[in-house]
Amino acid sequence: MSKQKRVSHPLYNLLPMEIEGFDSLAELALDMRSSWNHATDEVWRQLDSELWEITQNPWVVLQTVARDRIESVLADPVFRKNIDDLVRTRRQLLESTAWFQQTCPQSPLNCVAYFNMEFMLSEALPIYSGGLGNVASDLGVPVVGVGLLYQQGYFRQALDKDGAQQALFPYNDPGQLPVTPLRQENGEWLRLEIALPGYSVWLRAWVAQVGRVKLYLLDSNDAANFPAHRGITSELYGGWRLLSALGIQPEVCHLNKGHTAFAVLERARSFMLDSGQSFEVALAVTRAGNHFTAHTSVAAGFDRFAPVLIEQFLGAYAEQKLGITRYDLLSLGRQNPDDPAELFNMDYLAIRGSGAVSRHIFLPLFPQWPQDEVPVGHVTNGVHMPSWDSAQADDLWTEACGKDRWLGSTENLEHNIRRISDVRLWQFRSDAGKSLVEYARERLSRQLAASGAFAEAVEEAKHLFEPNTLTLGFARRFATYKRSNLLLHDPGRLLRLLSNSERPVQLIIAGKAHPDDQAGQALIQEWTHFIRRSGARSHVIFLSDYDMLLTERLVQGVDVWLNTPRRPWEACGTSGMKVLVNGGLNLSELDSWRAEACAPEAGWALGDGLEHGDGPDRDAIEAEALYNLLEHEVIPEFYNRDENNIPRAWVARMRESMARLTPQFSSKRAVREYTGQYYLPAKAQQTGKWSIGSIA
Ligand SMILES: *Cc1c(COP(=O)(O)O)cnc(C)c1O
Repeated sequence: MSKQKRVSHPLYNLLPMEIEGFDSLAELALDMRSSWNHATDEVWRQLDSELWEITQNPWVVLQTVARDRIESVLADPVFRKNIDDLVRTRRQLLESTAWFQQTCPQSPLNCVAYFNMEFMLSEALPIYSGGLGNVASDLGVPVVGVGLLYQQGYFRQALDKDGAQQALFPYNDPGQLPVTPLRQENGEWLRLEIALPGYSVWLRAWVAQVGRVKLYLLDSNDAANFPAHRGITSELYGGWRLLSALGIQPEVCHLNKGHTAFAVLERARSFMLDSGQSFEVALAVTRAGNHFTAHTSVAAGFDRFAPVLIEQFLGAYAEQKLGITRYDLLSLGRQNPDDPAELFNMDYLAIRGSGAVSRHIFLPLFPQWPQDEVPVGHVTNGVHMPSWDSAQADDLWTEACGKDRWLGSTENLEHNIRRISDVRLWQFRSDAGKSLVEYARERLSRQLAASGAFAEAVEEAKHLFEPNTLTLGFARRFATYKRSNLLLHDPGRLLRLLSNSERPVQLIIAGKAHPDDQAGQALIQEWTHFIRRSGARSHVIFLSDYDMLLTERLVQGVDVWLNTPRRPWEACGTSGMKVLVNGGLNLSELDSWRAEACAPEAGWALGDGLEHGDGPDRDAIEAEALYNLLEHEVIPEFYNRDENNIPRAWVARMRESMARLTPQFSSKRAVREYTGQYYLPAKAQQTGKWSIGSIA
């Protein structure tokens, strides 16, 4: 691997476009679909295997390798033919008709804009491409994403010698991300001017490609901005403006979380300009075409601003552009408009500007309504299965359900995967456990070496764990309500469970605590200190820097995925869905989606599904229940083997989980529901002319 200066963005450095075939490589590297499709993996591995293994980022590989290397691989006719085939397949796929076009050939729905402003780009691209982006692309639903490109990416985690978290904020170099500057036809970089009192903030626009769909990103690192504004990306109403500048007129806006709520104001303003109507009418007309999803069920999760800030930054905008008073503006974000102390709540603005919302949190706004009649609906999240399955899981599902497995009906999937034999299922699981152990050893030894551990410890890490031992995984954000230390309630009992010589258990922990969350960081240290106690080290490891690449390896290899939040705080808990396709089982608090899934024969449930507050007594009771469940059910079932060394009851549970839950918690189902229940009706309500037929 070249250790020389890394090439930065194509804007500043010439890419070797003159090399014949380079443009095809760039086309493949810039399509984020490759992150789950894996068809191009071998291409990047051939260019620079070491850099590819570490980064899994085709665009970085392509920009880093020497021109000679690119020229020589492209000169190989076999390599070249493969590239041409991949490009042709990609283009054919983009032009083919998908589920949406087949199911609703007459649909007048041309564009749904999905606003998701809150995540950082380094996570945004994988999240978007792993979630809505990929699925919309697979299904052909006409979605564009709108988000932000932050200069400082999400923090990375290292553990120091004492096992304490160090937060690192690497600079987010757009040149290392698969995004390109969005240009006008004349070649000028597309920039938006956001006028604020006394000065302007300029936003630059970028685009990422995920199969058929695009993700537009705004950032404020523009040379024309004050230095203080170059580090932030001001969200305000830039998203809707960007779409207007591109000539995109979405019929439906899907606002994800309250942070995106200002888009409803700008959408209404744009309607006012077109129609000459008042703001009130404009909001009433456009709100039917806005859909809002919230993920928190607790008031503390709301995004709120001091009224004075809203007045300062949006007061003039409200008066001059929307034609409403500051009082009216503030009322949109308040429960009681006459309480001057009440903060401006972005979620309230979003619900008032939207036709449909998800349930639970808005009851205070509808005091006189019974909960069932509050005008909000609910779509359970799902995960993009092809993003999380291992190559071996992919083979297994293909073998059982055929090549188009993720596009067919859920009933077929369930039926077909049930026919797989116990022997085959168990072989598949055993192989997955082995791969995870190899990965964990390699990753832990690198992590220890980087933290300055002694050579013996680094060497010891290379031999930790056993491939055939029951492996539990626990990876979360270390927020206190997730109760990452529930298992540590009685350290002695945990140690006895883990180190039983007949039926040993190994545990992999990972997770970051917010840099400002001292309590969360203390939980991490509780684990690292526990691990140092004699005896625990060979049974428990803490892998640092939990990110999507680590998630992928964990969910593909663990036997059981643990989830122990305090009810009712869990927002989405999607990580447990990622193990389903890989045959892992969930042991979870009966919360969020697990409560919906409610399939005891497909996993294990902790707690009784009721809310008990957050007293220490409750934690003690649930910790006890967790140990009992592990000791009396999970561990014996795993080690109870027949004469062929197969745990029949375990395999039956795996089969049930794979067959029933995988299709149910796939994002394909979620996107179909959004489309059928919200996008199409929102469009129909707007035009008043068109109603949806049967769609599911
Ligand atoms: C899936 C995922 C999450 C969300 O998981 P939860 O179950 O909600 O905790 C968080 N972080 C990463 C890196 C993930 O891959």
